[in-house]
Amino acid sequence: MADMKTILITGGNGGMGQAIGRYFLEKDPGAFVYLGVRSNRDQADALSAEFSGRCEPLALEVTSAGAWEAAVAMTESAGQTINVLVNNAGHHDDQLMATMADETWQGVLDANLTSTFLGCKAVTRGMMMNRTGRIINIASLSALMAPMGQANYAAAKAGVLGMTQSFAKEVARMGITVNSICPGYIETAALDDMDPETKKARKRGIPMRRFGKPEEVAAAVFFLASDDAGYITGAALKIDGGIF
Ligand code: NDP
Repeated sequence: MADMKTILITGGNGGMGQAIGRYFLEKDPGAFVYLGVRSNRDQADALSAEFSGRCEPLALEVTSAGAWEAAVAMTESAGQTINVLVNNAGHHDDQLMATMADETWQGVLDANLTSTFLGCKAVTRGMMMNRTGRIINIASLSALMAPMGQANYAAAKAGVLGMTQSFAKEVARMGITVNSICPGYIETAALDDMDPETKKARKRGIPMRRFGKPEEVAAAVFFLASDDAGYITGAALKIDGGIF
């Protein structure tokens, strides 16, 4: 197990986390995948059963520094160093800013931005000792084109882009790359609160006239985690069917 490439994906029970995990497991026989989970873990358990011995759920409430410490300590006690961290967990809670409750603001900042900060810090020591590592932060197109009603989410995801750039510079000499991905509309549970008419209207605004598939994001994560992507750091990659 120690010889395998160890990948930790937060939000591993969600649509994108599942697709990213499956992509690594199918494309790289040397990949060992930890799927970070909190309350829900049915999908993560199913993927772990399918790839028994190469995939495990890992309890990880990403807003908790203690949970990060415990998760990294668990992997170390199994003789592993995390080689690839995908900060994927996150959620949105849309409200107009003038009437947004303070807790709604803070909750979204914590889940999307502070979580990424804590994750980067937690894995850095191990990656520095290895003189190599890959961190991929899942931001959003909302970081670049903030829509109405997403002041909290857009601010959090824009923060992820800024943090990615700054951190990429700090750890570049240690062989660690840090990049962000900005997905547009991707078909996962995150779009469940959008009604069919709104979905149709949104698709009309996308040059490719369709939403993306989680596998299309997974493919980019896999590339950014590869040796071939060794000179890419601090980047923000849009995956959105051509919205700009
Ligand atoms: P899902 O809702 O399917 O998955 C989100 C995952 O994040 C869930 O597994 C959820 O866990 C987990 N999560 C949320 N908060 C926490 C927390 N505090 N601690 C631990 N886990 C947490 O959505 P996606 O898979 O689509 O989203 C993945 C990422 O992609 C998110 O960061 C999202 O913002 C981003 N994104 C998604 C887009 C889309 O169109 N789908 C577009 C742009 C960005 P649980 O199941 O327990 O709630």
